[in-house]
Amino acid sequence: MSAPDLKCSLCRGTGLVEEEPSPPHPPSYRRCACVLRQDIISNVERGLVGLSKAPTIDASPLLDKHTQNLWVTAGTEFLSHLRHVAVRRPAVWAFRVISDAELVTAWLATVAFSGEVIDPDAYMVSTKYLSIPDLVVPPDLVVLRMGVKVARNEASPEVLAEAINTRTHEGKATWLWDEPAHPLNVGHLFWSSGVGRVLTGWEHITSLAPTTPKTPKKKTDSSKKSPNRGRKTLRRGGS
Ligand SMILES: [Zn+2]
Repeated sequence: MSAPDLKCSLCRGTGLVEEEPSPPHPPSYRRCACVLRQDIISNVERGLVGLSKAPTIDASPLLDKHTQNLWVTAGTEFLSHLRHVAVRRPAVWAFRVISDAELVTAWLATVAFSGEVIDPDAYMVSTKYLSIPDLVVPPDLVVLRMGVKVARNEASPEVLAEAINTRTHEGKATWLWDEPAHPLNVGHLFWSSGVGRVLTGWEHITSLAPTTPKTPKKKTDSSKKSPNRGRKTLRRGGS
């Protein structure tokens, strides 16, 4: 449980709110919204560090698609949409953004242990992940972020296909995120006809609304301490 907000007016910093009394039962308490909110923010950060700070948006076509496979081609606005989905899930929802580079590292760790291959990426191998299944199986939703790995590795498409197939085998959803400037297609480091087959039938969202902040930023000219501001507001009150 996260620490309560000490300035919270609901729980006065205790983190607990008393339920409606129902005598003869003793008083019962539930976790305050300020604690639940913080739990969810912590969960969002577990999925991807920094994600909770992505600009907020009002709506996303990705909402309610967290149990299906989805291919999204979008720029960094994707992060706002992912945040939009993640903050609406319970704090126990397990999701994780995994980069294409991490996938290859996981695969290399496996082959390095089995002593089969000396690979140009071998120096990247860590013992953090022992295999692709160790990396991709546990979360409820895995978001595969393409475009992080730039060094060519021959096995890349097979590694991607194996990661997705492993998730499919477990009955779990995967989102694949590639960028418009570098789409997953012929010429992409991770593309092969085999990958194309794996992605057959996936819903493919090819554009997302650009990020527009929920609360419009103050215009720079209104930041001046103008004596007219009050009257201006009154005039614009009807709009
Ligand atoms: Zn509270």
